[in-house]
Order: sequence, then C-alpha cells, then structure tokens
Amino acid sequence: MVLNVGVIGTGNIGTYHINRLAGQISGARVAAVYDLATERAAQLAESVGAKAHSDPAEVITDDDVDAVVVTSPGDTHAEFILACIARDKPVLSEKPLATTADDGLRVLDAEVAHGRRLVQVGFMRRFDAGYRRVKATIDEGTIGTPLLVHCVHRNPIAPDFFTSEMLPTDSVVHEIDATRWLLGAEFAATTVLTPRRTPLGPDRLQDPQLVILETTESVIVEVEIFVNAQYGYDVRCEVVGSEGTVELETPTSTSVTRDFLRGRSVPADWKERFDGAFHTEISQWVDGLHAGTVTGPNAWDGYAATVVANASVDALRSGQRTAISLVDKPSFYA
Ligand code: NAP
Repeated sequence: MVLNVGVIGTGNIGTYHINRLAGQISGARVAAVYDLATERAAQLAESVGAKAHSDPAEVITDDDVDAVVVTSPGDTHAEFILACIARDKPVLSEKPLATTADDGLRVLDAEVAHGRRLVQVGFMRRFDAGYRRVKATIDEGTIGTPLLVHCVHRNPIAPDFFTSEMLPTDSVVHEIDATRWLLGAEFAATTVLTPRRTPLGPDRLQDPQLVILETTESVIVEVEIFVNAQYGYDVRCEVVGSEGTVELETPTSTSVTRDFLRGRSVPADWKERFDGAFHTEISQWVDGLHAGTVTGPNAWDGYAATVVANASVDALRSGQRTAISLVDKPSFYA
C-alpha cells in the first residue's frame, strides 16, 4: 500500500519534503501539490509524477490524496489544518500550528470534536538522534533533577524578510518545543533581553536576543538566538541537573587535525544539521499512517509553542517579564 500525499506550498521546505517523499521514503508518493507560484508547482509536480492543482482546497478534497503536508507560510497553516480535519485527513503541518492563540484553539477544538488524532506539527528536533539521547538521559534520571537549560541557536545569515519578532516566532519556537518536550513541562513566563546589535545585520533587526523562559516548576531555559552569526548553523543545548549535565552533540560535524591545529566543522544550515531528523520525522509519520496512528508532536504542542513565542514577542516589545497563560489542556492530549 502506498500513502498518497498532497503538499500545499512548494517553496524552500516544501520542495525539500516533496523530494524526500518522492525519492527516499518507501510507502509514500506525492500525489498532488499546490503553490501560489503555479509554474514552480507544475514543474515540481511533473518531476515527481503528481498533479498540480489550481487551488489549495483541491489538494485537501482530492480523493486521490490520503494525507496532507502543509509547507505554506505560517499564517495559512491553521485554515489548511482545519480543512484537513473537516475532511478526516491526517495532516503534517510545518511549524507553526498557527500564528495566533485563537487560531491554535480553533484547531484544538476541531480535533477534539472530531475525536481522532489527525494533526502533527513539524517540530523535527524531537526526531533528532542527539536530542533523543538528551531526553533519554534526563528520563533515566542520570543527571538528577533538571534545574537549568542553556540553548544556543545561531544561523549564518538571516533572510532579508526577517524581523525582530521572527527571532522568537520562527527560530526560538524550536527551542520552546524541544525544551517543553525534554523537561515535560509548560512555561509560565518569558523575558527577552536585547544586547548590542550585530553590525553585520540590518539596523532594523534586534539581533541577537536572549530569551529567558521559566517553567511552571521554575526550571529556567535561556536561549541565545543570533541569526546573523556568520560562521555557520550552530545549535546547542545543555541541561543542568542536580547530579550532572547532559549536552547535545552535533552528529554531522567532523574534527580535522593538521598543521598543529584541531578544528571541528560547523553545519552550513538547518538542512545539513537536521536532515536525519527530517527523514525520521517523515518516515515515522508515513509508517504511523500505514498503521492508522499519528504519534508525533500534536496540536497541543503546536498551540503551546505559539502562545509562548507570542508572549516572547510581547516581552521583546515591552522589555518586561511577561506571564504566559495556556488554556486547560484537553484530556484528549493527555
Ligand atoms: P517559502 O520558501 O516562502 O515557501 C512557502 C511557499 O508557499 C511559497 O512558494 C509561497 O508562494 C507559497 N504560498 C504562499 N501562500 C500560499 C497559500 N495560501 N497556499 C499555498 N502556498 C502558498 O517558505 P519556507 O521557508 O518553505 O517555509 C514554509 C513554512 O515552513 C513556514 O511556516 C516555516 O516556518 C516552515 N519552516 C520550517 C522549518 C523547520 O526547521 N522545521 C524550516 C524552514 C521553514 P509565494 O512565494 O508566491 O508567496
């Protein structure tokens, strides 16, 4: 049996997922695509033997499509996810689930009312071998009680359209989800500190930022986000516990020694660093759907991450510690 996947959005990550689904994942094929950029969508569709639709709704209603991947811009995700739920179709949406808490709640309400899990959010770090080892180490009790988490998230150069608000909503959202998952906790407050700006970014961009998150049990997670760091794509995470610490390794890096110098390579971008995680994410999603289940990050995870990211934007603007308030978690997501 082959899972027929429809993809909405054939930009950067949409093309990446389409090529993987078409060429590297057994048990799945790309059946239909849509993008506002119709010519690119048509070319890509032809290259993988898929249909190119002229409307995103057609991808969802197409009887030849069993499941949908949403890789359009973030502010379109909630509507596409809601349409998938209305058609009883599983959907893997890239982050964010929604750009507002209200839209996130609409998705939660719709999925709970539907009564069966359909939604997975593309927080691929949960599928990274290194993050999984960190989580296993915490869960085994090896480092005792987690007290603090230090995270670093650096990109070489931010795209032109990046705004100061996107550092929390588009970048730190990965640390928000990963540390919620590592700690099994929700966040209660956020503060954003704004150091001197890098002269190598645009004047309008507050880059870097230091986001300080507090869980409901007072574990502190500090995230340095620096999107014009120049030298490479660098993601770090160290969890400090009462009896030791555990640190994320970068599996794609290598160490070269010569001429009296030892140097470690740094990934060029998120695709190089997390390619293995994306592969596991998509292949487990496909395998799960063959078995009739969806088990990855759920709509609650997507909603919580959106609320924390948006509160961090408020904290960035106000310069104040900002309380985070989530609705009660539906038992459906227990
Ligand atoms: P992108 O390159 O701009 O691609 C988005 C595509 O969607 C563009 O071709 C855009 O067309 C098209 N589009 C716009 N409105 C649409 C609509 N209503 N229906 C269908 N397609 C529409 O962006 P991207 O970098 O691929 O990012 C897409 C999403 O993936 C974002 O939510 C982003 O946060 C997420 N993402 C996640 C990761 C990760 O690490 N998990 C990494 C990268 C991106 P136009 O260009 O003509 O507007």
